[in-house]
Amino acid sequence: MRKFNFCAGPAALPEPVLAQAQQELLDWQGLGCSVMEVSHRSPEFTAVAERAEQDLRDLMAIPDNYKVLFLQGGATGQFSAIPWNLFGGGSKKADYIHTGQWANKAINEARRYGEVNVVASSEDRNFSYAPTADAWRESDNAAYFHYTPNETIGGVEFPYIPDVQSPLVADMSSTILSQPIPVEKFGFIYAGAQKNIGPSGIAVGIVREDLLDRALPDIPRSLSWKIAAEAQSMDNTPPTFAWYLSGLVFQWLKAQGGVEAMAELSLKKSQMLYDFLDRSGFFSSPVQKESRSRMNVPFVLADARLDQQFLKESEEAGLLNLKGHRSVGGMRASLYNAVPVEAVEALVAFMADFEQRHG
Ligand SMILES: *Cc1c(COP(=O)(O)O)cnc(C)c1O
Repeated sequence: MRKFNFCAGPAALPEPVLAQAQQELLDWQGLGCSVMEVSHRSPEFTAVAERAEQDLRDLMAIPDNYKVLFLQGGATGQFSAIPWNLFGGGSKKADYIHTGQWANKAINEARRYGEVNVVASSEDRNFSYAPTADAWRESDNAAYFHYTPNETIGGVEFPYIPDVQSPLVADMSSTILSQPIPVEKFGFIYAGAQKNIGPSGIAVGIVREDLLDRALPDIPRSLSWKIAAEAQSMDNTPPTFAWYLSGLVFQWLKAQGGVEAMAELSLKKSQMLYDFLDRSGFFSSPVQKESRSRMNVPFVLADARLDQQFLKESEEAGLLNLKGHRSVGGMRASLYNAVPVEAVEALVAFMADFEQRHG
């Protein structure tokens, strides 16, 4: 029996997508073998790859002067790839906003290759908010400006897109495809797939073409966006199954009404949970209201001694993976696209009952 899964990643996948993959696993497209067992250069797989790209372009309204890349090494690989690909264009300086653990990892990696200017940080209040635009000033002549629109661990989401001079780079791992975004405002967008796209093992990169000529000369081949773009993301063997499954998720998203429908749903789901948290005298949200994430909702119990009890009972109730990140404790419910409204309704009902009995 499928249960409601609130895992932060690898996260829930749409059930119809899993059912389709299961149904065609042994004999894919009448070839007598699975999609995992054909050449990535075969016409059948090439069609899968091209359709996935086109569907992603349609979903996100990606302009023609952007390349779509399917990459390996996760979002973490891109923490390194970004400085490698952008520090060779004349400036080895970059601006970063520090909003928590993922931003921090990106910053530390960039520091190995150039100068990082942390233009704003929310460390003063335990990373519980997104700094506002008046809090920072860009450097002159930065190679790029990096931020994390949604901090998956802290549950902090930027309610705005920074308006900056240098190319804007965004780690959208946990928020991509959850609402329409103006891609033309960005130089590079990237996301590990395992939150809001598909299985782990693949990452998506969306890069403005004019940025493909700014790499450091010694860039490792596997990190080069330019080489990936020229090879249709097949300079080496790509993770074909993850690519195929991500493509099925894109088709599913289109059938659901695309990112507009996801925006509406994500608001509805997160609002339902935040409303409950704000009414509750027992559960609470540690995140400042204006910066609360629609995707990841951390919450704490008034009495941390009940955490284990909460996790045990919630699991028995068919609500999986509510434990907060090991570094921050408490609870976290991730409400990605594949998590249905019914899951949040069941969670809120369970929490209300738990509060009645233990609060
Ligand atoms: C999960 C996550 C990452 C790390 O992704 P990997 O694919 O494991 O490297 C990076 N940034 C954000 C915002 C994430 O949510």
